[in-house]
Amino acid sequence: MTVTESSIATDFEIVIGLEVHSQLLTKSKMFCSCSTGYANSAPNTHVCPVCMGMPGVLPVINEQAVAYTIMTALALNCTIPEYSKFDRKNYPYPDLMKGYQISQFDMPLSKNGFLTIEHEGQVKRIGITRVHLEEDTARLLHHEGYSLIDINRSGTPLMEIVSEPDMRSPLEARLYMQKLREILVYLGVSSGRMEEGSLRCDANISVRPRGQEELGVKTEIKNMNSFRSVERALVYEAQRQLELLRSGKPISQETRGWVETEGKTVSQRSKEQAHDYRYFPEPDLPPLVIRPAWVKELLAGLPELPDARRARYKSDYGLSAQDANVLTEDKALGDYFEQVVAASPAQDRATRAKAAANLVLNDVARLLRAHSISIQENLLTPAASANLLDLLDADRITGRQAKDIVEEAFISGKMPETIVNERGIQPPISDEGELEHIIEEVIANNPKAASDYRAGKINALKALIGQVMKETRGQARADSVRTLLIKNLDEM
Ligand SMILES: [Zn+2]
Repeated sequence: MTVTESSIATDFEIVIGLEVHSQLLTKSKMFCSCSTGYANSAPNTHVCPVCMGMPGVLPVINEQAVAYTIMTALALNCTIPEYSKFDRKNYPYPDLMKGYQISQFDMPLSKNGFLTIEHEGQVKRIGITRVHLEEDTARLLHHEGYSLIDINRSGTPLMEIVSEPDMRSPLEARLYMQKLREILVYLGVSSGRMEEGSLRCDANISVRPRGQEELGVKTEIKNMNSFRSVERALVYEAQRQLELLRSGKPISQETRGWVETEGKTVSQRSKEQAHDYRYFPEPDLPPLVIRPAWVKELLAGLPELPDARRARYKSDYGLSAQDANVLTEDKALGDYFEQVVAASPAQDRATRAKAAANLVLNDVARLLRAHSISIQENLLTPAASANLLDLLDADRITGRQAKDIVEEAFISGKMPETIVNERGIQPPISDEGELEHIIEEVIANNPKAASDYRAGKINALKALIGQVMKETRGQARADSVRTLLIKNLDEM
């Protein structure tokens, strides 16, 4: 079944709230000193009695994880209470080593924040209920007839960001996720990789007749591992609930899983209530006292966030909203762009920014895609990119030659200047007289193409341009060749 947003009737309203879990980029786990760098390790090699849930062990709080959570909360405009604590969340599941998870219940590290999303020029504020800290579970690997357990992930710091039910469409939910991911990556607290499960999203969704104050019965959707699947799953689920309401059937409060391959949600289990978890204060950990001075320090140390960077690119560099958006969506790409501008002569920077943005967004982005490598692994250094722009500015190479040079520099890591010297590339023909002479010759030697062009066959011009480029061995600027050719042909 294909369901689109427009197929959802206007007499009903969709209400969505998201619970996002992000693993934190700390070196060690939440309550022990095991390394979190287990991604490429054999199963059960990053474990100790604490994260294996052995009896008699004591957890120790990871300060960096607390700092990262507070930084995130501050970036999301939350307030940070001075007193906070950890609680035990009890539930039996084979991937939960202790039989409970250390989480935060009624005194989270932060609450009452918001972030803004933007769509077609409209800015909307989405409330953040709380940002709190807990620990990740182990991982179960299911096989035919049996399951295996990998404890490496157990105890990894996991931050949970809970939104208010402020989103009114699956599209808003996707925009919220994208914005949140950007902020986490800019802060350096999360890898932001949904496909690897280090960033996960659960969605609560209900529908209600428009104008009704009371919320409808909600379901919780899990297993969405991309922005696109968040949006698709919510569109599907809104439609499913609406059909039930229309036919007078009840909606049951439950947890449903998104099945990407089938494009639908399926019932997993009836949703637990908070009291099912029998929360109580974690007796093995002291309450947390967050000194206001520390919060102040963390606030002062926050890096520039994506909205601020976008605004700066527009005001300081004169970039279009479109260019500023693309360059800031990926922090690393924006960092690269800024390094290219910084590597340029100081007096050039404002004018250089536009050329640098074009180079990064067109050539560099295209090469990265074609070679499937990340900007961090890229051999074309910012200095090399700046060097290429210098050569263009100085009329040392043509735009066409620049395309070839950037390809080679991208693969070899050589400076463009070195490539120009190695290839013996001569400066472009800047002497109009010399170019004019070559053009006259080409026209004389290709009378058919010339008369075709004059008879209105525009394609004939391309053949003539090609001939001139060949005669000049690519040393002429294509735009001047074109202009001069047309002038000569029209004058004949
Ligand atoms: Zn451990």
